Amino acid sequence: MNEFVKIEVALADAVERLTPVSESPRLDAELLLARALDVPRSYLFAHPEDELDSAAVKRFSTTIESRTKGAPLAYITGEKEFWSMTLMVTRDTLVPRPETEILVDQVLVRIPKREAMKVLDLGTGSGAIALAIAKERPICDVTATDFSAAALAIAKENARQHSLPNIEFLLGDWLEPVAGQMFDIIATNPPYVPSEDPDLERLQHEPLTALASGADGLDAIRRIAVDATSVIKPGGSLLIEHGDEQHAAVAEILQEAGWKEIGVTNDLAGIPRVTTAVR
Ligand code: GLN
Repeated sequence: MNEFVKIEVALADAVERLTPVSESPRLDAELLLARALDVPRSYLFAHPEDELDSAAVKRFSTTIESRTKGAPLAYITGEKEFWSMTLMVTRDTLVPRPETEILVDQVLVRIPKREAMKVLDLGTGSGAIALAIAKERPICDVTATDFSAAALAIAKENARQHSLPNIEFLLGDWLEPVAGQMFDIIATNPPYVPSEDPDLERLQHEPLTALASGADGLDAIRRIAVDATSVIKPGGSLLIEHGDEQHAAVAEILQEAGWKEIGVTNDLAGIPRVTTAVR
């Protein structure tokens, strides 16, 4: 890119570079340019003829370069929208996905507004699920666990930024840090991609421990299904997000672990995405 390029030219050039790697090249380019110029996105449309100085060209070009190498936009900007909240994300956390809002929906329909339930989010990552629940149900006590101290630090910072005091963060492997406690609801978006899945190539910028889980992708779910039985109140619910073709296997795992009333919710693409069960 030359120095002193016009906004519209810089954008057109970036769109061309991003088209092979992004499903939304124009949006990505606009968001990154607005960021490099420290202006709202709307400024770009109002001032297409404005020129970028060489420092801005450099800032913009560096981020476009990272994006062409496949880095998720969220890692470049350091943030991602989830449940109408802007969350900080780093390479230590999975980028929250829109389909995980379905898991949050399913948790919320199980918590009447005036009931102070105890809710557990396992493998919280950026804290997306825990924060959404804590925000919608301020009288509930939410516990969020993760075995990555780095991820937990991000989740804590997100809770602080969104002023959500009703979340406790605990470091540890799945159910270990909550031994001896009892919960009304346990929700999780665990790693569920099979370890040899070619899709992992596309997801290589995100933490593998948040994505892959054994040959069939179900190792974490098998463990959670069993271990969660000792911390769930009678009548309490377990809700698990999983992959495209895993509902039947997850239902069987839950049944074998003694869970009842197994149900499923589809994502917006009509794919079974969240399996639920009652103790
Ligand atoms: N939904 C993610 C993906 O396949 C996987 C997330 C996960 O394993 N929890 O893009």
